[in-house]
Amino acid sequence: PTKALQEIDAAHHWHPFSDMKSLNEEGSRIVTSADGVWISDSDGKKILDGMAGLWCVQVGHGRKEIADAVNRQMNELAYYNTFFKTTHPPAIALSEKLAKLAPDHINTVFYCSSGSEANDTVFRMVRTYWDKMGKPDKKVIIGRWNGYHGSTLAGTSLGGMKAMHAQGDLPVSGVHHIDQPYWFGEGQDMSPEEFGVLAARKLEEAIDEIGEDKIAAFIAEPIQGAGGVIIPPATYWPEMRRILEERDILFVSDEVICGFGRLGEWFGSTHFGVKPDLMPIAKGLTSGYLPMGGVLVSDRVAEGLMNSGDDFNHGYTYSGHPVCAAAALANLEIIEREGLVDRVKNDIGPYLQERWLGLGDHPLVGEARMTGLMGALELVPDKTDLKKTFPDTGTVGTICRDISFQNSMVMRAVRDSMIISPPLVLSHEEADFLVESAEKTLNDTYQTLKK
Ligand code: PLP
Repeated sequence: PTKALQEIDAAHHWHPFSDMKSLNEEGSRIVTSADGVWISDSDGKKILDGMAGLWCVQVGHGRKEIADAVNRQMNELAYYNTFFKTTHPPAIALSEKLAKLAPDHINTVFYCSSGSEANDTVFRMVRTYWDKMGKPDKKVIIGRWNGYHGSTLAGTSLGGMKAMHAQGDLPVSGVHHIDQPYWFGEGQDMSPEEFGVLAARKLEEAIDEIGEDKIAAFIAEPIQGAGGVIIPPATYWPEMRRILEERDILFVSDEVICGFGRLGEWFGSTHFGVKPDLMPIAKGLTSGYLPMGGVLVSDRVAEGLMNSGDDFNHGYTYSGHPVCAAAALANLEIIEREGLVDRVKNDIGPYLQERWLGLGDHPLVGEARMTGLMGALELVPDKTDLKKTFPDTGTVGTICRDISFQNSMVMRAVRDSMIISPPLVLSHEEADFLVESAEKTLNDTYQTLKK
């Protein structure tokens, strides 16, 4: 029974990113099974997983093919490491596959178990690269406010979440943050196009201020996900590309969310036409079936670091884990065979976008936006003044999120905006359900606020 499970959970389980006091009072939500885009809870309620778990279940839940591949690999070779020049067939096959899927100038992968570990790897990789290049002073890494790159020390530091920095006295030294390209929240005094260029030039200003000879890298998500699906104005990435091409710093495109089809290309940086030197990956690599991450490394960085004659003194017990690699291979096979990347670009992406953007007419919505299968609704108190925000930031978002759950759809709240990132296998009928449920949730929230 749900209540008994909730009591045990409350007594012993400390949930990530959760206010445990209120969780203990309300009881946790217990998900017991899942199939396709639907999850089921301990009361037997079926809910459309509008967030694909945590932006990761690209191929949908319950794919037997992945479970079978994992089972086969478990029986064949459940574990061996990849340290000290050792490897195994699943890691070999996956590395070859990833090199094929990545842009032409990227042919190497370094494995880990999560997006956070991937960014810790990036942190050490970029500094070590410049060291090997005879430029040891190039150490500063520039990230963006409100960016998210994970919860480890480097991940939290590179990210720009102030509430996270406040816990643990972060960022670590040598990290600098520039503004995000958040037009709705911070740029409404000018056109999105003007704002996009100015936001990109913050990077140029930071490089001039700090000195190009001191900067190792710039890291960014193609679209900031956990920050609230911040889709940059169309002028942002082209201007960024100009700056990155002119300056001798490495560009790290954090593809943990935007990779593996989310934006209708294999990688989000391809969608925006920018050329990364490194790409941290995780989530959609295995569709979340098993934990696996990695850093895709360009030939430039690989040659500089790998052929230096020294070890890169970095790695994890589970780097390239054979069972996780088998899950990744089965998952990528499904994405390819079912043409899911193209589906996001030419079929379900445009279909859902058109309907989702229609929610922008709702009296509670200041802006609806979506690229690929990543969308947001900015909730506002007053549609005639879009700069006005709700007094107690996040309260309305939380109300709306809970109502959405009652209306059988998972939407996540970031401050007072509602975000979605559904599995790439979402059917047209399920997309209709998603939008109808979101509309009902907006209506219900509107009525609740009026009371
Ligand atoms: N990078 C980005 C862009 C993310 O969204 C996340 C997680 O949401 C991470 C890194 C961290 O990944 P993980 O939670 O697997 O450590």
